[in-house]
Amino acid sequence: MAFEQSAKKNFPHWPIWDDDDIKAVTDVVKSGKWWIGAPAVHKGENAWKLEEEFAKFHEAKHCLCAANGTVTLEACLGAFGVGLGDEVIVSDYTFVATGTAVVASNAVPIFCDIDPETLVMDVDKVEKLITPRTKAIIPVHLGGNPVAMDHLMEIADKHNLKVIEDCAHAHGSRFKGKRVGNWGHCGSFSQQASKVLTSGEGGLITCNDDKLATDIYSYIDAGRHIGDYFYAHYSYGSNFRISEFNAAVCRAQLKKFPVQHKIRNEHAKYLTEKLNEIDGVRAMKLTPGTEESGWYVFPVVFDLKKFKNIKVREIFKKMNDAGIPTDDCYPPLHGLALFKDVKLKKGIDYSKANWGGAKSADKNFPVVTDIYKRSIEFPQEMLLADPDKLDWVVDFIKKLK
Ligand SMILES: *Cc1c(COP(=O)(O)O)cnc(C)c1O
Repeated sequence: MAFEQSAKKNFPHWPIWDDDDIKAVTDVVKSGKWWIGAPAVHKGENAWKLEEEFAKFHEAKHCLCAANGTVTLEACLGAFGVGLGDEVIVSDYTFVATGTAVVASNAVPIFCDIDPETLVMDVDKVEKLITPRTKAIIPVHLGGNPVAMDHLMEIADKHNLKVIEDCAHAHGSRFKGKRVGNWGHCGSFSQQASKVLTSGEGGLITCNDDKLATDIYSYIDAGRHIGDYFYAHYSYGSNFRISEFNAAVCRAQLKKFPVQHKIRNEHAKYLTEKLNEIDGVRAMKLTPGTEESGWYVFPVVFDLKKFKNIKVREIFKKMNDAGIPTDDCYPPLHGLALFKDVKLKKGIDYSKANWGGAKSADKNFPVVTDIYKRSIEFPQEMLLADPDKLDWVVDFIKKLK
């Protein structure tokens, strides 16, 4: 196939930008207003407009922007008063920030194993992890695949726990009639360079409670109140503000998002059907009730026995050598050096964590350990490729047998 010769350059590259993005940045440069400004003065600039536009798009009452999708988690935890002596249940299969945001708040993350088919937090395992110290849960919509939020909220409500949805992969995801980020008490989004909505760096928080929105704002902006005097500081808050440059690019990208999102959803459905026809290959299953997914990544799980017991690293290498954009999956958090060796914060008691030393043994997290050993993932931009290229990828995988 001619396509095979030059596969690499035939797959879309990310980010996708045009003159609107250039204009967005130059307009900020020329305006001389490079930061979001004092809360009482600059309303109407890019950061504030981005909040309005994203709130509308994600069907939330409030949206607050911040510097990235790590500090958004920290701000939500801070607004809930999560701190010393508290525990927060997080998925074991996620980017490290979901766990370290909890560490930053002086609380202890508790890792929850995943469902072998949907690859997101196994909600049935959450209740066993709840202790009198548990204050919050952070479900992660991995690859845009929503956690079963109806079920999770029942558990959270029963135990009076706060829920922060980590939506870093899930811009545009919709579950049972509601966009993600509206099921829990708040939703945290990342606009880092690889994400489906990007401005290089950036974060957004959605919520539907007026008081919570005010508290989160204060945490992001030095303990200030929106509309109030610049040097009035009412509570502890950091500087997690986004810059006007990032906000302006994010607004330009948000305009392009709906078309890309639709293509990713259509192509993911197509690719899932094709891959699942191969004996020994399984695409991530969307949680029943999912209507749209952000599709930040497209995980593929192999039954390696059906592939002559090839190592997953070998599959990864062959695909990359052939020019197929292929990524590593996240190593489960319980095995990362910082958690296993407990290289964390001074003075905090981590002894009741369900990780660290012998407790970090893979056998204690059997599902995620097994899945991680036999998975690869495609980055979201591959889903923007034409279907004939996706066919070519499917054929390539068939030939690995
Ligand atoms: C990217 C990511 C984050 C952190 O976002 P940054 O903007 O890079 O700080 C948090 N959680 C998950 C699941 C992510 O993928």
